[in-house]
Amino acid sequence: MRVQTEDFRALARQLDEEDELARFEQEFVRDDSELIYLLGNSLGRLPRATAQRMERAVREEWGERLIRGWNEGWIGLPQQVGNRIGELVGARPGEVIVADSTSANLYKVIVAALRLRPGRTKIVSDDLNFPSDLYILQGAVASTGGQHRLEIVPSADGIHGPAEALAEAVDEETALLTLSHTLFKSAYTYDMGALTRLAHEKGALVVWDLSHSVGAVPVDLARAGADFAVGCTYKYLSGGPGAPAFLYVREGLQAEARNPLSGWMGQEEPFAFGLDYQPAPGVRRFLTGTPAVLSLAAIEPGVALLLEAGVERVRAKSVRQTEYLIALWEHRLAPLGFELRSPRESARRGSHIAVGHPEAWRIAQALKAEMKVIPDFRQPDNLRFAVAPLYTSFGELYEAMARLQKVVEQKMYEKYPAETTAVT
Ligand SMILES: *Cc1c(COP(=O)(O)O)cnc(C)c1O
Repeated sequence: MRVQTEDFRALARQLDEEDELARFEQEFVRDDSELIYLLGNSLGRLPRATAQRMERAVREEWGERLIRGWNEGWIGLPQQVGNRIGELVGARPGEVIVADSTSANLYKVIVAALRLRPGRTKIVSDDLNFPSDLYILQGAVASTGGQHRLEIVPSADGIHGPAEALAEAVDEETALLTLSHTLFKSAYTYDMGALTRLAHEKGALVVWDLSHSVGAVPVDLARAGADFAVGCTYKYLSGGPGAPAFLYVREGLQAEARNPLSGWMGQEEPFAFGLDYQPAPGVRRFLTGTPAVLSLAAIEPGVALLLEAGVERVRAKSVRQTEYLIALWEHRLAPLGFELRSPRESARRGSHIAVGHPEAWRIAQALKAEMKVIPDFRQPDNLRFAVAPLYTSFGELYEAMARLQKVVEQKMYEKYPAETTAVT
């Protein structure tokens, strides 16, 4: 879709009428009807079914069943929820588990991958990767005795992932290529199949971070031949603040791959209490400690809604919505000094758009405090507007951009402090 018309309000109404996913809006808690929430890529909205599920988990499962809950379903939750997420990302049953944070899971699979490529010394990533992913890589390099060297390939423009330069950087010395599939700043999305194939041709393994893709951008891990992946459940999956993350290990690698955080939940028989670690068969060996049962229970309802809607339909709406935002940017925001910091080509773009403005931080504060719009600010001067197709409408996008325009035109941001807060 290329947006032609300048009557954006009427267009929004028409697109909302045609929207086959519109009914899903009702499935999410929305107590303040004026609030426009464009941060589903950071913390997804609460599904109504999750509130009910939590009530049951707390009162019945914990309150009444107590320790018996473990044998009544809790112990299997990491695999059960993992398999459901697996359906969203093209994994086979038994390839995904849910545990720990994305950062911790990334550490586990990176060290596992490096051990599968002994003698190879190079790790390749890019400078648009999520900083925590780079910190984890640095920690992994230090913990393997400094045998590895990290090559961070720079993006030419800070927007597009350096796909060609990455392909050149991966060579016969390379143990591992690791990237975010969709980049958190610009929403650039890599061609997973092409890069995985290139890395495999050189004998390297690939770890994908799906945090900004899962639930918004189609991923087919099996078809791409991906080796390992991790991802977040509190963003587009609406799993709740700090919900545990997922981890994928391709079936063919599971027997050899070793979890460096070898805890009892990944042991072959955790309740035999033997003194020597024997890894469980399958992906369960990548568990470490006791599963976060309540948080796991909160993940399933959001995933079920996405599966019901269908990844392809979610994607189609997401593309229409980011195209609509870009058209609004072109006609309404660019004249106010906003720069587009996301790819124009929809095939290479995830589910948010980033725009830059010298006053981005103060504008974000004014939007939140006076305009009931929640965008996202990212250092140094970026605003991100995410669409979560299950609950974001075109009307909201129109309205949010109109309020943004007002903040800038009337210089409403000028009374806000320029210093940033601890959590932005
Ligand atoms: C959100 C996100 C994370 C979050 O990691 P946590 O360990 O949950 O804090 C990691 N990587 C990427 C690419 C992300 O977008």
